[in-house]
Amino acid sequence: MKKILSLMFVFVVATFAKPTIYILATGGTIAGGSSGELNASYTSGAIGVDKLISAVPKINEIANIKGEQISNIGSHHMNNDVWLKLANRVNEILNDENADGVVITHGTDSIEESAYFLNLVVKSNKPVVFVGAMRAATSMSADGPLNIFNAVSVAIDKNSFNKGVLLVMNDEIHKAREVSKTNTTNVAAFTSSNAGKIGIVNYGKVEYFDEKKHTLNSEFSVKNLTKLPKVDILYAHTTDNEDLVNFCVENGAKGIVVAGMGSGSLYPSVEKALVEVMKKGVVVVRSNRVGSGTTDAGPGVSLYDEKYGFISANTLNPQKARVLLMLALTKTDDIEKIREIFRTY
Ligand code: ASP
Repeated sequence: MKKILSLMFVFVVATFAKPTIYILATGGTIAGGSSGELNASYTSGAIGVDKLISAVPKINEIANIKGEQISNIGSHHMNNDVWLKLANRVNEILNDENADGVVITHGTDSIEESAYFLNLVVKSNKPVVFVGAMRAATSMSADGPLNIFNAVSVAIDKNSFNKGVLLVMNDEIHKAREVSKTNTTNVAAFTSSNAGKIGIVNYGKVEYFDEKKHTLNSEFSVKNLTKLPKVDILYAHTTDNEDLVNFCVENGAKGIVVAGMGSGSLYPSVEKALVEVMKKGVVVVRSNRVGSGTTDAGPGVSLYDEKYGFISANTLNPQKARVLLMLALTKTDDIEKIREIFRTY
């Protein structure tokens, strides 16, 4: 009996500790159904909110989810009546102190208009996140479930407050004011062509670009500095070799930034050489040669960073990672402190 009571207590505490997110469904491809998984023509808004939610069981681990159906239409049929109903309901929900945020599932054709409308009439600083999908729920590799998981992750993130209405699609976070549909079929269909996306979300890991420290909040200073530690950049490639790693260290490098392949991956001989030079106190930072995206996520993280102690450059390109590593080395040679610096700046 005692055991059952304590289990119930744990369940109740866990339930109440989680934020409460409302998912308001309006229809669209994200709720679309077709007769076959390779069928490009489908019916928008064929699936109800309960089914949408049950396709993403993982969201129940991060939030208390409450689903409501506002409409179930293709967004090319969106109209002022639905907008007024949706906006009133969002305001009502967010006025409730037990509600922490709202995710709105919507067709992609007019999602930018609805998001901008709500951006102007919602009276709350709590997160409101629009989400859609380019592939129907019944399609092969449907993008809806992960988009929903990511949208809920953004809605529960403390940095999503006060940002206005947001749109999450294809691992990107956009502002309603800026975003537009810019491709008819691709899963990467949304762009904020003037201002750019404001963050990324990778399997639920949210990263806003504007949360980084600078100037007055920067711990670095040039006062009393006469020179900077030597940090070199190496460019990864197929049939790579360790010669340049050793050359850099023999010539006084205190740090090495690698422009790794993909999300910062390395050729085996280079990986081995970097592990060796780390043992001699050289700091290794993994950036990438790809040009965009983060090295905080991806197949190498647990091996390179967690096992070997390399540091991820986050979204910094190799040349900027070099700047930060030089400055970091003016303050400390403690790997964990430098890792924290790369999360902060
Ligand atoms: N026509 C669909 C809609 O806007 C397209 C989509 O959702 O992607 O509802």
